[in-house]
Amino acid sequence: ISNHSSMDMEVDEDTSGQLNMRGVFLHVLGDALGSVIVVVNALVFYSYWTPCPEDGPCINTCIHDHCAENITQMAARMNATELEKIPVAGPCWVLYLDPALCLIMVCILLYTTYPLLKESALILLQTVPKQIDIRSLNEKLRKLEEVEAVHDLHVWQLAGSKIIGTAHIKCKDPETYMKVAKDIKDIFHDEGIHATTIQPEFAIVDSDVGFEAVSKCELPCRTQCALKQCCGTLEKTTAK
Ligand SMILES: [Zn+2]
Ligand SMILES: [Zn+2]
Ligand SMILES: [Zn+2]
Repeated sequence: ISNHSSMDMEVDEDTSGQLNMRGVFLHVLGDALGSVIVVVNALVFYSYWTPCPEDGPCINTCIHDHCAENITQMAARMNATELEKIPVAGPCWVLYLDPALCLIMVCILLYTTYPLLKESALILLQTVPKQIDIRSLNEKLRKLEEVEAVHDLHVWQLAGSKIIGTAHIKCKDPETYMKVAKDIKDIFHDEGIHATTIQPEFAIVDSDVGFEAVSKCELPCRTQCALKQCCGTLEKTTAK
């Protein structure tokens, strides 16, 4: 079962990790759609559109200006046989085909590009990838018997499948940490995080002196730096 689930995850990573290929595909799709529209327009225009002759009277119902009005008035004075000799330009719908198809193409491209744009923007903003539940990851790490506290847990991604994780993990002593290090790595691996940087910390004071002593970082920067750290001391740290 575990083999099966890891295979599923790899397939999932392959489909979500091809941001560049999706970008290239959309670029080519846009070019191809543009070319198809030009060809279709040319064929339709060539086979359906009847233009006015170079000289002589002509009725173009697609254009509304005062000259056209004069031609209509002139046409009203003529009899039916004379009127039939005046060439008529049209049909008018051919003129609307190009802008209509181009607007449809713009809609298709916007609709297909938006998810890619959103995904890329979220990576650039260094958000936690959507397939990772950072709360449950935190819970799993804290559930390990030997782990006393977890803080400064950060997860972000470089590309579709390259997810980075960092954490401070507090244990009783180096021996306990080495025992649990493989399990910690496995928890990150199961979440799809394969590049991890973990700072082990060991309780200097006895862990049963109280909650505060367990939860705070053993290797803080200077105290006046608290506000400049992303997790700071104001935020609630997680301890067992
Ligand atoms: Zn791994
Ligand atoms: Zn720490
Ligand atoms: Zn932080």
